[in-house]
Amino acid sequence: MYDLLLSGGTIITCNNSFDIIEDGIIGIKDNKISLIESKKENINNLPESKEYIELDNEIIIPGLINAHCHAADSLFRGLVENLSLEDWLQEVWKAEKAILNPETTLLGSYLGLAENLLAGVTTVVDMFWYPFETANASLDLGLRLCTGGIFIDFPGVGGRTHEQYLVEASDFCSKFNNSEFIIPAVMPHGSYTVGPEHLQEAKKIASDFKAIFSIHAAETIFEQKDIKSRYGNTVIRHLDKLGLLDEKALLAHCVHLDNGEMDIIKATNSVIAHNPLSNLKLGSGIAPTLDFLEKEINVTLGTDGAISGNDLDMWLTMRLAATLPKGKLMKPDIVTAKDVFQMATINGAKALGKSSEIGSLEIGKQADMVIISTNSLHAVPLFDPLTHLVYSCSKSDVKHVYIAGKQCVKDGSIINFDIENIIKEVRKLKMPTLNSLL
Ligand SMILES: [Zn+2]
Repeated sequence: MYDLLLSGGTIITCNNSFDIIEDGIIGIKDNKISLIESKKENINNLPESKEYIELDNEIIIPGLINAHCHAADSLFRGLVENLSLEDWLQEVWKAEKAILNPETTLLGSYLGLAENLLAGVTTVVDMFWYPFETANASLDLGLRLCTGGIFIDFPGVGGRTHEQYLVEASDFCSKFNNSEFIIPAVMPHGSYTVGPEHLQEAKKIASDFKAIFSIHAAETIFEQKDIKSRYGNTVIRHLDKLGLLDEKALLAHCVHLDNGEMDIIKATNSVIAHNPLSNLKLGSGIAPTLDFLEKEINVTLGTDGAISGNDLDMWLTMRLAATLPKGKLMKPDIVTAKDVFQMATINGAKALGKSSEIGSLEIGKQADMVIISTNSLHAVPLFDPLTHLVYSCSKSDVKHVYIAGKQCVKDGSIINFDIENIIKEVRKLKMPTLNSLL
């Protein structure tokens, strides 16, 4: 007896052989997938289940994994425009310092994480000032979240010291070390905002707890020049020399790398979180993703925060990740829809050390599933479900979302949580936020 049985629809498994099952059937029991196959074998005799959902042409995919986000920065969406990263950050930090405290961070986290959830994201990697609040918001929404203590060397939001950041990072890892939904991380902002010793102290905590170590890296040419002038090395060599790179290192952006830096990332099994929209909008550049793939580096996808990319849309992110390299290199056959869909799913799961649990639809894995409607005009006719997902689909096509077998989104709306109340509260922050930059 299954808890839930989905019958019909096309299943994009994202398993090792990238099987696509047409007219499939998925059985869920105890939060996990315990049946996945073609429906034909069961057509006259569906297995017993407490709940049945009959699908009609829909596509079933693994939940998307957003590998780089700042969810609560959704409070500042559209506030700072037309500046390069360095000038932009100065304005962002001014607004953040004026507005953010644990309560507003909680509000912003609900807003940003709910946007992710409605777009079919079931796991978010999030870097922000108050990680306990982000974790609470995520648990309330039923999302999986990778986050943890931030580090920055100047007085940031809340005016905390490095010693306080160390305690917070350690406490966070202790609290969530065995959590089912929270994957602990340590998150120094960048090598240009955190000094070498402090980076190593942060890494020590990550290593002690076997936690993810996530950091912005090689985002702009300015950053590369800055690190070179301070430490005599490029960003990735600097991080490597400090002993920070291994399979737990999740490097956000990596737009400007030389060949040797890519080789270091591959040799250390570090992971890249590619954020094409944010890189474009801040004028940072276009990351060399074809080189990453040719070197067999694990590449994941992120939206970055809504303050840089203005929305948290993994569908747009996928489309840009697939099309930018083709246009840049004038080669239409590189960085395929399959490459990009793997970046948004199983590659993220591998990066988080969770590929035995999430990232694909396979027996024994958690039932993190998204049902994509094919009723829109842009889905007619539909020759290839995979190219449809990457090149035509949008977040409005996300119909149902299940995480660990529990439905969190039904017919395009969040269930089990009052998001309307959050929207009302966030709107009250508009004027104080505008005034913060005067
Ligand atoms: Zn970022």
